[in-house]
Amino acid sequence: MTGNIPSYAALGLAVLAAACSPAGAPAPDFESQAVQDLVRMLSDDALAGRQSGSPGHAVAQELIIARWEALGIAPFQERYRHPFSYGGVDFGTEVALRPQRKSGTNLLGWIPGRSDRDLIMVVSAHYDHLGSVDGEIHNGADDNASGVGGLMAIAEHFSQHKPDHGILLVAFDAEEEGLAGARSLIDDPVLPRDRVALNLNLDMISRNDRPVLYASGTRRWPQLQPIVAQVASGAAVTFEPGFDTAQDEDDWTLQSDHAVFFRAGIPHLYLGVADHPDYHGPGDDYDKIDVDWFNRSLTTTVSLAIALDAALPDLTSPQVPAP
Ligand SMILES: [Zn+2]
Repeated sequence: MTGNIPSYAALGLAVLAAACSPAGAPAPDFESQAVQDLVRMLSDDALAGRQSGSPGHAVAQELIIARWEALGIAPFQERYRHPFSYGGVDFGTEVALRPQRKSGTNLLGWIPGRSDRDLIMVVSAHYDHLGSVDGEIHNGADDNASGVGGLMAIAEHFSQHKPDHGILLVAFDAEEEGLAGARSLIDDPVLPRDRVALNLNLDMISRNDRPVLYASGTRRWPQLQPIVAQVASGAAVTFEPGFDTAQDEDDWTLQSDHAVFFRAGIPHLYLGVADHPDYHGPGDDYDKIDVDWFNRSLTTTVSLAIALDAALPDLTSPQVPAP
């Protein structure tokens, strides 16, 4: 199903969301056909799995930038594309044996805030995936076209309702190659690191056998707990904190691009689902996404971004050391 006319059911959900949204916050425009279309196109066979540096990956860049342009999202520091190089570390081997240095491209969009405080929330999602493995295309619909969809839902909302603080939208490259895009940005002078109050990272938010959206980071950054609890209480999905201590079944603190912000001492929240059977497999396709649940997940993601933006000046406090 495609088309830009919202259904009556969608309008009803939007009204319901308005009634349930945090005090004073406008209803997020989460029933976005444009978001679904983008996620579907990013995970189409035509893009061949969006491996960094591949032709399909270049098309993914064009799709993301075109959507930002359509929303009126400005480029950050006058350009959307921020190239970097990575890999090819010299371990003293002969030149001919050294691994090739590679080029990557992070995409950066900017939504200015209306407050005098010059704090920034970095909202991120990686847009690269694995390409083909053993001759099979890995489309990465959940990992991480879905997170890019979340990035766009937040962009769509704040393009219509100006945030209190600046929002730096980042589509990271080469997450699947050792978080290379995030590592590059954190050390790049283009990033005004002293102003970054938070990283909200989205990686796999569209589906799971266990339909729970998790927020990892509240135990390392306890000041985020009440915000997550507030959003969870009215959330359109089961939304729970977790997966960020050694006592959990997994600790996701170092699992995606937010790890780079965590290591730099910048508070982070990571939204994701537990691994499913198609994780990093050839079956991670758009048609496996439960669009209704995904829309609810997007609603929750946008609601959380609204709450975090409002609370941003209060979020800088010391982290709890790793157990
Ligand atoms: Zn991922």
